[in-house]
Amino acid sequence: MSRIALHWRILLGMVLGVIYGLLSATFGWSRFTSDWVVPFGDIFLNLLKVIAVPLIVGSIVTGVASLSDIRKLSRIGGKTVAIYMGTTAVAITVGLVMVNVFQPGNSVPHELQQELQATYQSDADFGVDEAEAVQSHGPLQTFVDMIPTNIVGAAGNNRNMLQVVVFSLLLGVALVMLPFEKAKPLIDVFASLTAVIIQIVQLIMVMAPIGVFGLIAKTINQVAKDDIGAAVELLGALGFYCLVVVGGLLLHALITFPVLLKIFTRVSIVKFFKAIAPAQLLAFSTSSSGATLPVTMDVCQKRVGVSKEVSSFVLPLGATINMDGTALYQAVAAVFIAQTLGMGLDIGAQLQILLTAVFASIGAAAVPGAGLIILVIILEAIGVPTAGIALILGVDRILDMCRTAVNVTGDATVATVVDSIEGGLRPPDEAALEGTA
Ligand code: ASP
Repeated sequence: MSRIALHWRILLGMVLGVIYGLLSATFGWSRFTSDWVVPFGDIFLNLLKVIAVPLIVGSIVTGVASLSDIRKLSRIGGKTVAIYMGTTAVAITVGLVMVNVFQPGNSVPHELQQELQATYQSDADFGVDEAEAVQSHGPLQTFVDMIPTNIVGAAGNNRNMLQVVVFSLLLGVALVMLPFEKAKPLIDVFASLTAVIIQIVQLIMVMAPIGVFGLIAKTINQVAKDDIGAAVELLGALGFYCLVVVGGLLLHALITFPVLLKIFTRVSIVKFFKAIAPAQLLAFSTSSSGATLPVTMDVCQKRVGVSKEVSSFVLPLGATINMDGTALYQAVAAVFIAQTLGMGLDIGAQLQILLTAVFASIGAAAVPGAGLIILVIILEAIGVPTAGIALILGVDRILDMCRTAVNVTGDATVATVVDSIEGGLRPPDEAALEGTA
């Protein structure tokens, strides 16, 4: 393996991907790009996805089983969920403050609103249908949906990650409750499975720079096709809205998380961000915290020094339920749509957004575009026409990349904080940080 650190290699792949994508759109190479460049991105993404389910099962079962007593599990579990929900609520508040201060919706010209609605209406209808299925049930449906009726079925679809998490937790708890000699063979199998998967991650990461190159080129290819001008125009029109979302995400990532780390841990903020950079870059390139999970676990354990015990439980849970970036984005998007449609939202409606977005982000799957679909639930809750989604659809992919990077940063931060509170955080493996990881 090369001696250049992994995050630099991924970054290089990304920059070259952007340059190539722009050239491809400018010179009309989209056919060549989708035939010969995009497949490398897809292969890389598929490799990451294929290990997500075994990794979640293996790591949660071994993580829970290693806690050795149920009281410790409920203590760590309780803290984890509380911090996850707390940071998500802060994220939403940041989003709400930003969108109310800057009011991006009031700067969209009327003709443009109509143009956007007309262009994206059919796509938006599709998303609305999907989300209506989700939200036509009662308030407890989210919990019903968490429980699988068939574990093979649940494991067969990466969107059902939360069901797999719940089943793995159940398995882990039962193993802790059994006499040790009865539980040991199965615990050993899962521990071995986890070790093998982590090893596979190392292999997959060899192709990360090429994979990221393909994924970024693919995104630009999809957004711009062969008409870079149209893409730039759209970005210009919705640029202020995008800036507000990205500004909020940056604030949350660069203030909320570092403050948490400062209060609860002794890790250096710079080193922390340097250590998790490969996971952030990957989250940005794949728009999927589920696909990024193997790398998030790897960097947290090897480069931040989070114990296996905590990371193998906190991170898979976080990838599925903790989405600060998504929640922040949903708050901004909901108010932006209301502003654009000329609807004022009073403080009650904004509080409603806060509450709904905490739960909506838990329900959002760790896959590209999930946040946009779940946004429908929030819009319904505050009485804003869901068709308004058509306004923001065109730029969603770009914002998805940014919010996913923040989602993953949040998971890594909370894992570090919980481990530090539990006294497990050890000094990172310096060699791993300097080298290839
Ligand atoms: N793509 C995001 C994730 O996987 C979810 C979202 O669409 O906001 O974390």
